[in-house]
Amino acid sequence: MTKKQKKTLLRVILALALLLAVSLIDRLLPVPGWLALALYLVPYLTIGYDVLVKAGKGIRNRQPFDECFLMAVATIGAMALGEYREGVAVMLFYQIGELFQGVAVGRSRRSISDLMDIRPDSANLELEDGTFEETDPDDVPVGSVIVVQPGERIPIDGDILEGSATLDTAALTGESLPREVQAGDSVLSGCIDMTGVLRIRTTKEFGASTVSKILDLVENSSMKKARMENFITRFARYYTPAVCYGALALAILPPVAGLLTGGAANWGTWVYRALTFLVISCPCALVISIPLSFFGGIGGASSQGILVKGSNYLEALAETDCVVFDKTGTLTQGVFQVTEVHPADGLSRETLLERAALAESYSNHPISRSLKAAVGQEFTPGRVTDAEEVGGRGVTAQVDGRAVAVGNPRLMESLHIAYTPADAPGTVIHVAEEGRYLGYILISDVVKPNAKAAIAGLKAAGVTQTVMLTGDNQATAQAVAGELGIDQYYAQLLPGDKVERVEALLARQGKGKKLAFVGDGINDAPVLSRADVGIAMGALGSDAAIEAADIVLMDDDPAKISLAMQIARKTLSIVYENIVFALAVKALCLVLGAMGVANMWWAVFADVGVMVLAVLNAMRALRQRPSP
Ligand code: ADP
Ligand code: MG
Repeated sequence: MTKKQKKTLLRVILALALLLAVSLIDRLLPVPGWLALALYLVPYLTIGYDVLVKAGKGIRNRQPFDECFLMAVATIGAMALGEYREGVAVMLFYQIGELFQGVAVGRSRRSISDLMDIRPDSANLELEDGTFEETDPDDVPVGSVIVVQPGERIPIDGDILEGSATLDTAALTGESLPREVQAGDSVLSGCIDMTGVLRIRTTKEFGASTVSKILDLVENSSMKKARMENFITRFARYYTPAVCYGALALAILPPVAGLLTGGAANWGTWVYRALTFLVISCPCALVISIPLSFFGGIGGASSQGILVKGSNYLEALAETDCVVFDKTGTLTQGVFQVTEVHPADGLSRETLLERAALAESYSNHPISRSLKAAVGQEFTPGRVTDAEEVGGRGVTAQVDGRAVAVGNPRLMESLHIAYTPADAPGTVIHVAEEGRYLGYILISDVVKPNAKAAIAGLKAAGVTQTVMLTGDNQATAQAVAGELGIDQYYAQLLPGDKVERVEALLARQGKGKKLAFVGDGINDAPVLSRADVGIAMGALGSDAAIEAADIVLMDDDPAKISLAMQIARKTLSIVYENIVFALAVKALCLVLGAMGVANMWWAVFADVGVMVLAVLNAMRALRQRPSP
C-alpha cells in the first residue's frame, strides 16, 4: 500500500468507529434532530471531505459529472432527508471501494514490473589500467569491455571476449532453457549469467540494447487502446450526465404528476429514490476493470515471452481467423544442411562451395548462414566487395574482383545465365561467375519440432484458414505445407508478391475478422506491417522485426502463436464478462431503485460489490499459463 492508501485505510477505520458510536448514542439517548445531524457530520466529513472537495472543483471547472459529484449529491441529499446513517455509509463504502481498486491496480502494475524485472542497475566497466568500476549502464560507450560475474544479469548487448557460461534466458523468452555460450558468441542483455565469469565487448549502447527495447515496448503498450477501452471512456462521458438528469426527473416528475392528479406529492419518497438511483449508477466498475483486464492480459503474455505492443492488438488477435506464415525461419528452422553439391565440368566441389560462401559473406539470410557454416572457415576480409542482397532471389557480389551470383532460378534468369534445372527435393542454390554457370548446391531445411502441433493448436483455437507464403520452390513448399497440415500455400514469391498475397487475403476477410501474419523479420517487414496483426518470432536480437511487428515472440517456438491467441481470447472474454455483469446488475438495481424496492443500502452494496468482483475478475487476466 502507498502512504495515501494507508491514510485512507485509517480514515475508513476511524469513520467506521465514529459511525458506530454515534449510532449508539442516537439509539439510546433522546437526541434532538439538530444535534443528531451534528454528530453524524463528524464521521461523514472524516471519510468524505476529499470527495466533497473534488466534486466542488469539478463544478467550478464546469465538468461536474463525475463519480465524486454523484456521491456528493447522493450523500448530501440523504443527510438533508434525515437519513444520516445512510449518508455516512454510502460515503464510507465508496471510499472502501476506491481503496480496494487502488490497491488492485497497484498490485497488478507491480507484478508486471516484477515479471519484466530485467533492468540492470549497473555495469562493471573495465578501465584501461585493468581495474573495474561500477557504472550506470547508460554511461557505457559502445566498444567498452564489461565483466559479468556468475549470478549477474548481462546489462548490455555484446560479444564475449573471454570466458564461457550457461545463460538463463527465461526473463526474455519465458522459457527456462539454459543456453551455453563461449568466447566469440554474442550475448543479449537481460540474460542471467549462471556459471562463469564473462568479459564482454559491448556492441550497442544501453538504450539500443535488447533490455531497453523490451522495456520501452512494454511500458508504451498502454498507449494503444483497444476499441473496448475507447468505447467505455466515451460511454462514461454520456452515461453519467444521463443518469443525473434521470435522477432529477425521478425526483420531480412523479410528485408533480401526483399533485396534478389530486393525490399527495410524496416528495421525500421520490427524492430518496432518486438519490438511490444516483448511487447505483456510479460507473466505476466498468471504467476501472476494463483497462485493468487488458493490462493484465499484456502483462501475463509478457511473462510467457510474448510482447504485445498495445491492447488493440490483443483485441485484434482474439478476432483473428486467418493466420499467414512465412516459411523459412518461421515454420522451418532455417538451418540448412548442404545435401548435394553439383559443380559444372572441370570444377571441384570445394571451389563451388567456397565461391558461394564468399559471395554470401555479408548476408544474414538463413541460407547464407548455412552455406558459410558448411565451408567452416574464416575468409580474409577484402576479398568480397559490392555485395548486394536481391530479396527473394539471392545475392550478387564481387569476389576476388569477379562478379559472382548465388541464388534461385529467378536470379539466374534475371541475369540471363543458362543453368541446369534441378528437380531434387529441397532448396536449389545456383552459382555463376562472370556470367558462366558454375553449378548448383542442394540444401534442405527441417521443419521445427513444434510446428505441426502449433498449426493444430491454432485450428483448435478457432482459426479457420492457415496459409504459407514462401520464396522457395514449389516442390519444397508443397512438402512443408503437406507435412504441417497447412490449408494453402503460395511458392516462388518475391517479398513484394508476399505483400500482394496478404492484401488479396485481407480483401477476402469477413467483416470483423482479422488476419495475422507471422514472420521471422528477415525481408518480411513490409508484410508484418501490412497485416492486421504482425507477429515476429525469434525476434531476440532482430531490431527490424521488433520495430515492424505488433506482437513479438521472443523465442522462435511456433507454439507461442496459439498461446498468444489463447491469452488474447481469455482477456477479451474477461472484458466482456465484466461489461455484461456490471451493466446487468446496474440495470436491475436501477429498476428496483426507481420502483422503491432497493434502498440506499442495496445501492451501495451493489456498487461496491460489482466493482470488487469486476476487479478480481480482471486480475485473472494476469495469470497466464500455457495450457498443457
Ligand atoms: P521465405 O519466403 O521462405 O522466407 P525468402 O523470401 O527469404 O524465403 O527467400 C526465397 C528464396 O530466395 C530462397 O528459397 C532462395 O532460393 C532465394 N534466396 C534468398 N536469399 C538468398 C541468399 N542469401 N542466398 C541464396 N539464395 C537466396
Ligand atoms: Mg523469410
